Order: sequence, then structure tokens, then C-alpha cells
Amino acid sequence: MAEALLYKPLKNSQDSRSATVQCGLCAHYCVIKDGTRGKCGVRENRSGVLHSLVADVIAAANLDPVEKKPLFHFMPGTRTFSIGAPGCNLCCSFCQNASLSQEPRARGAVRGQRVTPEEIVRAARESGAASISYTYSEPTIFFELMYPTAQLAVQAGLKNILVSNGFMSPECLEMLGPYIHAANIDLKAFTEEFYKERCGARLAPVLENLRHIVRLGWWLEVTTLVIPGLNDTREELVRIATFIRDELGAQVPWHVSRFHPCHELTDRGPTPTQTLETAWQVGLDVGLAYVYLGNVPGHGSESTSCPSCGEVVVERNGFSVLGTHWGERPGRCACGHDVPGVDW
Ligand code: SF4
Ligand code: SF4
Repeated sequence: MAEALLYKPLKNSQDSRSATVQCGLCAHYCVIKDGTRGKCGVRENRSGVLHSLVADVIAAANLDPVEKKPLFHFMPGTRTFSIGAPGCNLCCSFCQNASLSQEPRARGAVRGQRVTPEEIVRAARESGAASISYTYSEPTIFFELMYPTAQLAVQAGLKNILVSNGFMSPECLEMLGPYIHAANIDLKAFTEEFYKERCGARLAPVLENLRHIVRLGWWLEVTTLVIPGLNDTREELVRIATFIRDELGAQVPWHVSRFHPCHELTDRGPTPTQTLETAWQVGLDVGLAYVYLGNVPGHGSESTSCPSCGEVVVERNGFSVLGTHWGERPGRCACGHDVPGVDW
């Protein structure tokens, strides 16, 4: 446990000794009274001092292919040391990691393994990883662990990857700015209703943070979990793809992923492959250069094709890179077209 970063005391007009604080880590900006926690369940006000309950705790650590984040244009074929802590600032009804993300909020329990930034970086180096990923639940809420770890990782020659719901505060993004190299951010839908009713959040801050990330210069990829009956209309998919094209750039890869019933959303089946193929086609028709299907192993659209000549330049199956077919150098197709990415 450690004192939290990014919060301020709030003095109300009736009581100048008020111990209430306001957290500034994510776009909820929770006002937290003494003895209580914020929405994420892992930041607690103790006598006017906000504490992070996950500044030294992880609940998951694995060595993953970077493609699993998913990042398809960032150091492909490398491994990334991936960590996550309990808790999340959102409460998505379809969360595939609910046992990790919702336990602090639902039951107050913060379970995990004690760890320091030095130990994480050492373990990452010893594993042979090229990067550290802050992932699984929501890295924003374990900022006090992620921030010093990312700084140490840079000193150790490792890259840092953020896999996030994109609901952090701009102040949080600014602090992370110099230390994060790539991000995969969820754009879960394109309506405020969806974010409010299905996630307990808002769409507008996510859109603003996506624009902010482009300005920071991180390598960015975007993921949309396509859920039958909730965000799978052509109109909504067109709006998402158009936002990516117009505000983030047509070169930003878009991953459209298959939903599987889980957590509170078990009243419908998995996303039909045909729906995902429609989303994929929508992305290409709108003008996105790189659209990928997720959670459909073996589907041809996991590979990267040159948008100019159509030839496959990076061949994938699931999270595995099977081979590359570049021209004169990695990142340049044989037709001469440059495919954007980092360390092809
Ligand atoms: S991180 Fe977000 S949800 Fe958690 S206490 Fe801070 S403002 Fe609230
Ligand atoms: S943002 Fe991600 S981890 Fe958090 S509740 Fe939603 S799906 Fe789960």
C-alpha cells in the first residue's frame, strides 16, 4: 500500500477540516469520503490521505506473444511480460476477466502477490521479453505500480505497452506519456448509452484520450468487442471506423473481436463469424488500411495485407507469426508500399 498519486483534498464550505478527497486518476474523478473507497475499489481514503491498495500487488503475470494484446504492428513475433492487478474503474457486464477486475469493487477483496517495480523488471528481463505489458484488468488503477515500473523498464532497455479501456484522466496520460511506447485501447461502442448502461462509464473521455494518445506519439491499435444485439449494427460500426479514420488516422489498426458469453452477459451466444466479417468489411470500406478479426483463430484476416497491392506481408495464425514477405526491407512491401509499424 502507498499514498496515491493524482488526488487532492476537498474542503467543503461547512467544515474546513473535511477529510474528503477527490481522485484525479481516471475520468470518474471520484469524491471519496474518509474511510471509503472510489468506484474501482482499490483506492481508499484514510484520514484525508488517499491510498492505493494495489501499489505493490499483482494478481496475474505471464509471458505472452505481443500479438495477444493485441498489437499486430509493434515488434511482431516478440514476447511481452504481462502483468495485471485486481480491480477496474469500469464494470462491464461482459467482462471476460471479472474475477480479477470486479472483486475489489464487489467484495472489497484485494488479493494478489506482493511485488516491487524492480522485481517486475528483473523478471521481464530474465524471461527474454522485449517489453512489459500493463494489462488483464485495467492498468490505470494500478498506476502507482505501473508508473515506476515503466520508468525502470525504459532504463533497462525494455518497451512498455498499455492495454486499457481508455478511461484514464488526461493528467494520468500526460505522466505516462514519455514511458509508454504502444497501446491497445478499447473503443467498446459509439454511444453514451452503451458506456453508461453496460460499463458504468462515458464515451466522451475515451474518445478524447484516443486523440490524446495520437498526440503523444505512442503506437496505437484499437479494439472493439462486437457483441450481438448491443453494438453490432452497421451504422454503429461505420461510426467507430469513421472516428478512427478521421481522428486517429486510417493507418491505425482496428481489431474487431468475437464476444463469448460471460460474467453477467450470458443471454446471447458468441458473435457469428459473419457479423465479424461484416465489421471487417465496414472498416475497409470506410478506408481503414488494417482491420483484423480477433478470437477467430485460423481466419485469414489475422494476416497483414499490403493495402496497395493486396499481397500478404505478415502471415499469422492466432497469435503466431508464421512468416513475413517483405520487399527490400522489413516494413516495405515488394510493391514498394510502406506498412507502418515499429520494429518489423
Ligand atoms: S481511479 Fe477512478 S474509479 Fe478509482 S478512485 Fe480514482 S477516480 Fe475513482
Ligand atoms: S474495462 Fe475491461 S477489465 Fe474493466 S470491467 Fe470492462 S472489460 Fe473488464
